[in-house]
Amino acid sequence: MINPAPARPLSSSIGDYLKAIWTSSETGAVSTKEISQTLSVAPASVTNMLVRLQEMGLVRYERYRGAALTEEGRAEALRLIRRHRLIETFLLEHLGYSWQHVHEEAERLEHTVSDEFTERLAEFLGHPGHDPHGAPIPAVDGTLEPDDSFPLSDAGAGRRVRIYKVGDDDSMLEYLGERGLVPGRTLTVKEVRELDGVITVEDEGGETYSFGSPVARRVFVRPVP
Ligand SMILES: [Zn+2]
Repeated sequence: MINPAPARPLSSSIGDYLKAIWTSSETGAVSTKEISQTLSVAPASVTNMLVRLQEMGLVRYERYRGAALTEEGRAEALRLIRRHRLIETFLLEHLGYSWQHVHEEAERLEHTVSDEFTERLAEFLGHPGHDPHGAPIPAVDGTLEPDDSFPLSDAGAGRRVRIYKVGDDDSMLEYLGERGLVPGRTLTVKEVRELDGVITVEDEGGETYSFGSPVARRVFVRPVP
């Protein structure tokens, strides 16, 4: 059974914890260390918060195994992620924000708007499926499009791929945006240099770009049939 939404909005830091655990939990429980690095918070504070979240029924936490979201915690994380991604889309499409600046503003706004605002926004935007960085927007019932994309760094030479989503940190987005390496763009992998992982791709206009693995790991692609 899913509990009704909390009467009062959860504090922004609780929301940030839930999102951080959700984002890193593809492989199961998330360690205190991982959360502490993601949120730049001391491990001791993370432990205290995880105990609190466990008491609230949002997280299952075992000291030496780490934290995993309960069903309620996962629903709350997805609710915030839906808001965040809709707000990003709105800022880019209607308020003239550049794609590297929408994330930070959305981080602030997602904690202050109501569910009603979020759903009116979704309606206004025509129920977009993806945010400006390509990430799928969870539906209002928390379902999420399956994501079978993989990092460009894992695509072998000769493969034709389409950019599905990109990591949303500022400097990376500026770099990719300047080169038009945005979701939807088709690329052919020309070479993956074994020595240092530098990857060279060619776009449909015949233009080539080379980047190191820190970039290639943050660009997620799907094969072009
Ligand atoms: Zn974002």
